[in-house]
Amino acid sequence: MLQQTQVATVIPYYHNFIEKFPDIHMLAAADLQDVLKAWEKMGYYARARNLHKAAKVVVNELNGEIPATYEAFRQLPGVGDYIAAAVQSIAFGHPFAVVDGNVKRVLARLLLLDTPVNQTSTKPVFTEKATELLAIDSPGDYNQAIMELGALICAPKNPACAECPVNKHCLAFQMNEQESFPKRIQKKKIPEYHLIAAVISNNNKFLIVQRSTEGMLGGLWEFPGGEISKGETAAKACVRNVQECTQLEITELKSLTKVKHAYTHFKITVEVFQSKLKSGKIKLNGPVDFRWISKEELSDYPFTGVVHKFLKLIINE
Ligand code: SF4
Repeated sequence: MLQQTQVATVIPYYHNFIEKFPDIHMLAAADLQDVLKAWEKMGYYARARNLHKAAKVVVNELNGEIPATYEAFRQLPGVGDYIAAAVQSIAFGHPFAVVDGNVKRVLARLLLLDTPVNQTSTKPVFTEKATELLAIDSPGDYNQAIMELGALICAPKNPACAECPVNKHCLAFQMNEQESFPKRIQKKKIPEYHLIAAVISNNNKFLIVQRSTEGMLGGLWEFPGGEISKGETAAKACVRNVQECTQLEITELKSLTKVKHAYTHFKITVEVFQSKLKSGKIKLNGPVDFRWISKEELSDYPFTGVVHKFLKLIINE
């Protein structure tokens, strides 16, 4: 949960999750939809799907025992270097240094490293430095300390150097260069896509479709939709996309709202239309499942973050 998400945001989700799935056996036996529902609105849903898969591996193949070596733990779905180092050091006391954005920033300032922090190829440089500094006899405490230092004191802007417990050792502080580190390479502007979503109603029910469990936002539910082609109006794109992904014809289109959403590598603007079913029998192309549901049932399904930006408009209508 703590990958890409701050502790304060995670806490209520963590408590709710532990209450629903109090041990690894219950998590492994749970339906993926229930796991996604408990994760809803926290984003980066691949984490939830991987955690669920990892629980199944631990229960079904490893006798319910969490692997106590870095190599075996690293094999679990969703476990990368960061999670492996964090869990192995904090839970088992094994000497592996964590490297995340906060740690890289602290190291870059402490050691005056001009290696860019936002380039995958430079990660080994930071891993090597972090490993050199690791306190071998208490690696878990060391890792938590450097992560906290980065999160609370050595902030990206205006680091609190006067209160910093390592300021005596910090080269950037000594040279008054804190604000010029870490170094970053200029990244390309992220692309923006224009999409539509169609809230189709029929006999007081709404059509929702489920994304494939593979890929981005996998397993989550949304309203049918797709991209607006060049030169196409949003309304035409709405009719076309619905036809292409469900084979349904819709009518009485009304603009409901326009929402913006940002992901790590791109941004989207979605024009949302209300419409009525005109004709057709559903045949899905893209989505893997569909439901016609009432307003009251809308809260039973895990939806994408974009849908949450306009769901209230439908519920309160
Ligand atoms: Fe960061 Fe300042 Fe501490 Fe250096 S002295 S590690 S720049 S907070």
